[in-house]
Amino acid sequence: MRRSLPVSVGLAALVIGLSGSQFAAAMPVRGAPASDLRGVVLAVHGGAGSVPRGSLTPEEEKAYRDGLTKALRTGYALIKQNKPVLDAVEAAVNVLEDDPNFNAGKGAVFNADAEQELDASIMNGRDLRSGAVAGVHHTKNPISLARLVMEKSPHVFMAGKGADDFALRNGVPYTTQDYFWTQRRWDQLMDAKHPKPGAKAETGGTVGAIALDRSHNVAAATSTGGLTNKQPGRVGDSPVIGAGTYADNRTVAISSTGTGEAFIRTVAAHDISALMQYAHLPVTKAAATVVNEKVPALGATGGVIALDTRGNLATPHSTKGIINGYVTADGKITTRLYDDETPTS
Ligand code: ASP
Repeated sequence: MRRSLPVSVGLAALVIGLSGSQFAAAMPVRGAPASDLRGVVLAVHGGAGSVPRGSLTPEEEKAYRDGLTKALRTGYALIKQNKPVLDAVEAAVNVLEDDPNFNAGKGAVFNADAEQELDASIMNGRDLRSGAVAGVHHTKNPISLARLVMEKSPHVFMAGKGADDFALRNGVPYTTQDYFWTQRRWDQLMDAKHPKPGAKAETGGTVGAIALDRSHNVAAATSTGGLTNKQPGRVGDSPVIGAGTYADNRTVAISSTGTGEAFIRTVAAHDISALMQYAHLPVTKAAATVVNEKVPALGATGGVIALDTRGNLATPHSTKGIINGYVTADGKITTRLYDDETPTS
């Protein structure tokens, strides 16, 4: 794809002797100049749902906030070192995958056969390179495997045993299923299999990260265990590029959470990007249109975190809340667990 460059930038390329294609590869899609960022540079989420005040013990609340904060700190440190935004989103998601409080990696939910089947995807906004894995059983950090698929295979999407074997061959930490076991998720599976009258089982959750660097490059990453008691082989939106994850330097980086089937049917993440690119909606309006109108129109709920290339963050959700946090360019971290901490934008 040929892109036009500002004349001054093109001249600079000639002066330093770069060919057109080398130069295009080194520049962000928008050709935006590097600048000091002021807004949000990294955001993470721990799933859409409702956490009413009073439902968490102080210890549980601290554990959630600590997990989000550690993920944000880890990713922010890489952004500060001018590492690729892909490194930042992968590292932030790794932290949440390793944290048993979140539904991804360690702490992932059980399927109907009492196994963990993990889904993840990652996308780079500069060149639309993407990697995804679905239904992996043995890969400790599925987001790192998704990145490996992107960088070390000619493919975008690998599933099941082939994907796990690819991890093993490439030295990605491999584990037996018992690593993923947690009492909380086991209890949720039992609740789902033997529902008590009136009880509303907690079923979902996902983790994700989106980031922006000073050259206006964006990236997005999403990882999940999917839905408790899901049919073996079921794949949700999280590993589907355009549904659970999307990143494009012309528009936005997005990670979704919620009823995956509806996010696939509405191609939710890409639709937000398209509303920004073609209808010129701001990120808050584009994300709210998809999350609060298009997904609910299919009888489903969920939310997204969406970060445009200027550092504007939107966290719309049709669930009562979305567990999330963000860090601004100056390093200030905010975490939001409860419904009343999360604005509806
Ligand atoms: N979107 C995930 C899935 O459908 C679940 C969630 O985010 O709650 O697999």
